[in-house]
Amino acid sequence: MIPYGRQDITEADIEAVIEVLKSDWITQGPTIGRFEQDVRNHCSALHSVAVSNATCALHIACLALELGPGDHLWTSPITFVASANCGLYCGATIDFVDIDSRTYNMNMGALEKKLEQAERDGKLPKVVIPVHFAGQSCDMRTLQLLAKRYHFRVIEDASHAIGAYYEDQSVGNCRYSDITIFSFHPVKIVTTGEGGMATTNNTKIADKMCRLRSHGITRDPEYMARDSLGPGYYEQIELGFNYRMTDIQAALGASQIQRLTHYVERRKELVARYNQLLKKLPLTLPWQDPATSSSWHLYVIRLNLPKTSKDRRQVFESMRNLGIGVNIHYIPVHTQPYYHALGFRQGMYPEAERYYSEAITLPLFPTMTEQQQDKVVAALEKSLA
Ligand SMILES: *Cc1c(COP(=O)(O)O)cnc(C)c1O
Repeated sequence: MIPYGRQDITEADIEAVIEVLKSDWITQGPTIGRFEQDVRNHCSALHSVAVSNATCALHIACLALELGPGDHLWTSPITFVASANCGLYCGATIDFVDIDSRTYNMNMGALEKKLEQAERDGKLPKVVIPVHFAGQSCDMRTLQLLAKRYHFRVIEDASHAIGAYYEDQSVGNCRYSDITIFSFHPVKIVTTGEGGMATTNNTKIADKMCRLRSHGITRDPEYMARDSLGPGYYEQIELGFNYRMTDIQAALGASQIQRLTHYVERRKELVARYNQLLKKLPLTLPWQDPATSSSWHLYVIRLNLPKTSKDRRQVFESMRNLGIGVNIHYIPVHTQPYYHALGFRQGMYPEAERYYSEAITLPLFPTMTEQQQDKVVAALEKSLA
């Protein structure tokens, strides 16, 4: 089976991890700081906070923006469930904004309409989480204008988008947001096994996220309730978690991120080749907003349903039977049983639901060969026929 995504682990990665394993610190040592610095240098952000995974990063990002019971968090229905669950962890109420029919990102027109209504109802969101779907940035400039007008905070879910650009600047620089989060799960662009990171330009928010990832404990006298009792003294000043990354993971990440540009370039080559090979088939290929440069985490095609006799499920099953590890990104979050129980219903976000009925993710990963890609294309031609 050709998988839809796959990590690339080199000898240098393995050496870097072994070096940490032989050192004095396998967790909370100096490698975390180095990896954090690498990410922040790449993004040109002031602060970066490494955590166990991106779900933790979303959780502490929401808490750092003081999201809590009675507050509202909005995100896209076409995302991994974690982008919405983080709001529920904080006791907030979740809602979704339908997607744009071309980018599959949050639709800014729909967001504006929903904000106008929410203002009339007194239910404006405190936090909005745009998701840079497949590695293509959302329309952050428009989002920031709306954030200023309606006084909400912005967390970019850039789990797909390390190495992506918006208006020629790195996603993660937080120019138009409060916090950006990245995932380093093995299917993402760069991996640490499990792992995540939050970037921000706000020192207070960064300090708070650092405390929250480690039990709410501080060693900084500026934040202490009492006078310091000397070296070794620490205070727990709020309720935090153990969301720390290990040095073992950070060593892998620091080694991997050196190949970030290479990875994205290789993904772009494969995408250009897919675009060429698939252009005659009855499909909608990924559309790119000229203000963005995608990191190409995913290559998603849409079936042109009236023109094809097969539906998505038939094409999907045929591809799997032919040894192609196609996938679906994503089942709309609001249709999940857990969200159904919260009152969400089929039909609430029609563009997201239409997208879901037509979308298939084809394999794409930097070590994919052209022969493998040809096999995917041949299987797709056969599956559509
Ligand atoms: C992968 C992913 C996450 C969660 O990342 P983890 O590191 O697995 O916790 C969140 N949001 C999106 C959009 C993702 O793709």
